Amino acid sequence: MAIYKYRNYLAQTKHASFDLPLQPNAFVPCGGIFRCTGCGTEIALEGIGVFPDRSHHKHSHAQGPIQWQLVVATVSTVPKPYLHGAA
Ligand SMILES: [Zn+2]
Repeated sequence: MAIYKYRNYLAQTKHASFDLPLQPNAFVPCGGIFRCTGCGTEIALEGIGVFPDRSHHKHSHAQGPIQWQLVVATVSTVPKPYLHGAA
């Protein structure tokens, strides 16, 4: 689980981007922290390029396939590739 120290740097949102399961090798929709829905492993990505492929880490059969879920999106005044309108 992602951790933080200063609550004033994070804001809660109901943006639908946080509900989408994202596949290995899919385009990264925005910069942020993503967690694997099978095992909880977290990665930080810049929002450029694609997610790691299926060999990024190993799963047991019970953990199912690797899928990524957006946990924390970066917000920036730089136009792309950062998520906008999430707040
Ligand atoms: Zn995993």
